[in-house]
Amino acid sequence: MDWRVRFVDYPEQWRRQRPELLPIIEDTIARGDLMLRQQLHAFEEHLAAFNHSARGVGVSNCTDGLRLLAHALDVGPGDEVVSVAHTFIATVSPFVLRGAKPVFVDIGPDHLMDTAQLADAVTERTKVIIPVHLNGRTVDMHAVAKAAASVGATVIEDAAQALGATFDGRTAGTFGLASTYSFYPAKLLGALGDGGAVLTDDQELANRLLRLRDHGRVQKAEIDGWGYNCRLDNLQAAILDYRLSQLPGWIERRRELARRYDERLRGIDGLQIPVGPDADPQRRDVYQNYPVTTDERDRLVEHLRADGVETLISWPIPMHHQRGLGLENWYLPRTEELCERVLSLPMHVELEDWQIDHVADSVRRFFGE
Ligand SMILES: *Cc1c(COP(=O)(O)O)cnc(C)c1O
Repeated sequence: MDWRVRFVDYPEQWRRQRPELLPIIEDTIARGDLMLRQQLHAFEEHLAAFNHSARGVGVSNCTDGLRLLAHALDVGPGDEVVSVAHTFIATVSPFVLRGAKPVFVDIGPDHLMDTAQLADAVTERTKVIIPVHLNGRTVDMHAVAKAAASVGATVIEDAAQALGATFDGRTAGTFGLASTYSFYPAKLLGALGDGGAVLTDDQELANRLLRLRDHGRVQKAEIDGWGYNCRLDNLQAAILDYRLSQLPGWIERRRELARRYDERLRGIDGLQIPVGPDADPQRRDVYQNYPVTTDERDRLVEHLRADGVETLISWPIPMHHQRGLGLENWYLPRTEELCERVLSLPMHVELEDWQIDHVADSVRRFFGE
């Protein structure tokens, strides 16, 4: 397929970044800095500073970051973790695999956790609440904090899609005990492979995570407990450190592209679009994705494809309808409805303005505008 607008465009990304990245890659390899070296420490420091967090711990991926946190918090049988079913499976799997029971709340019109339902969802068994800042938009963290405090639960933010987003002037990922990030290539800040991080203000927790990610090692020879191998490769850290320096500009560009979509798609009968970048004074969204919803979803996907526009349906089957997970007792009508109606339009910094216009024109034609 010869796409006019690709959903992500790794070849174009590499073409643009090659002059900066090649010397960094060459230098890191030539020095032999492959595992747990200064490039990783520098990246962890810069990432924490960017997010206004005290400490950063690089890990192999976001899922492993959650796994280390579940271990550090000693989550186990009898515990409940409260989150949403409209998220990547990895938000809850590390907790379920330790024996905890997932408890789901439904979502609101902006596709995020409906925090009004939290009061009924939490119990004295609730160990962790995991808000997911999906699509680059922050969950109402005041409501989450209130629900957590009512039962003494810990809050961990799944910020895999929201690095740099803010809520009430505070960065996503600074509200809970810790937050986790994914550097999967398609994320806002992507590696050339897998990668992730945990951010926290808790020094003791950060030190614990540093040991857990490296076999429980304190020093080369000294082990202070059972651990894992969940290190972030030094080469990926060097690449990520360069890309982090570019992230503020990239976030601005994403917000510009969202504004352009917003201007061209607002007011179409039968199509719902995300909250615009200037519409919510309480939030600064970073537009990891640009999801739209319509009753004609599958036909719109085909129509766009015929016009050379690649789209993505992240989760066509809601998590609680996945056979084999044993979650069939949940009834989440708004999550279920969204999974049938949602599709994501192309959203990445390599997009040119004309490509947004091409996508928007195609969508407008579909709706007879
Ligand atoms: C990508 C993603 C993850 C998992 O990240 P990995 O780095 O692939 O483990 C978790 N949660 C959300 C919301 C994500 O988008």
